[in-house]
Amino acid sequence: MGRVYLIGAGPGDPELLTLKAARVLAEADVVLHDALVSREVLARISPRAEVIDVGKRCGRKLFTQDEINALLVSCAASYDVVVRLKGGDPSLFGRAGEELEALRRSHVEFEIVPGVTAALAAAAAAGISLTDRRVASQVLFTTFSRKPDGNAIDWGSLNPSTTLVIYMPGPDYAAVSQRLTDAGLPADLPCVLVTSASGAHQEVRWSSVGALAGEVNLSAPALMIVGRVAANQIRELEETFWRRESGERGLKTVSVS
Ligand code: SAH
Repeated sequence: MGRVYLIGAGPGDPELLTLKAARVLAEADVVLHDALVSREVLARISPRAEVIDVGKRCGRKLFTQDEINALLVSCAASYDVVVRLKGGDPSLFGRAGEELEALRRSHVEFEIVPGVTAALAAAAAAGISLTDRRVASQVLFTTFSRKPDGNAIDWGSLNPSTTLVIYMPGPDYAAVSQRLTDAGLPADLPCVLVTSASGAHQEVRWSSVGALAGEVNLSAPALMIVGRVAANQIRELEETFWRRESGERGLKTVSVS
């Protein structure tokens, strides 16, 4: 029996791969990868490895999740070093839970190699900090895509001092804007849209919860960071929020509750 490595491929830039990920890719006998993994990262795979693309193309799945689970178990029976390579970090919106369960059930040894998740690469691309002791004390990694039962994910009631990172926002930004407003966020709360963070086609666009409804769609993969940290000038942000909350002008720092 071989060992399965669930490896985070990071957001695209091969320099953001961990040393461990690069070493295991160079030693791999077989690699099952998702569509999100960049060409530059795939180039790090051992030339003698068998490489299987199990990702989605234009919304169409090449393999079902059950088929991927079964493939992982059968690869472990015939190869020493089996790699399951996922974009970003395997533990975020990557169905790793289902694969780990299948491996455990079949008594296959595994190891998880974490990666740089898209949220971190997007914050870096935008030049912002996800937490900021003055304006944001917590971060919520969430998604706009539907739960397996088709229902929207319940964000509960949101607080403007939470930074929200929305993976898979989908093409309907007006719907995202509406849900954020329904969850209690003000229309002038800043947000930033980042596509292909760390990649050659990286793009950063500044917006707000209200203005989001009229934004032109960015190409995939894109994510949104919503919250007070998502302003391109922290000084402007501080002043804007002070004016909104107190009616006064020109104060330099925001009061953080
Ligand atoms: N496991 C991945 C997320 C998989 S879900 C991770 O940790 O990053 C796929 C979603 O991630 C995409 O729809 C997009 O919202 C986001 N994403 C992945 N790579 C991205 C990138 N380079 N730039 C912006 N968003 C990205």
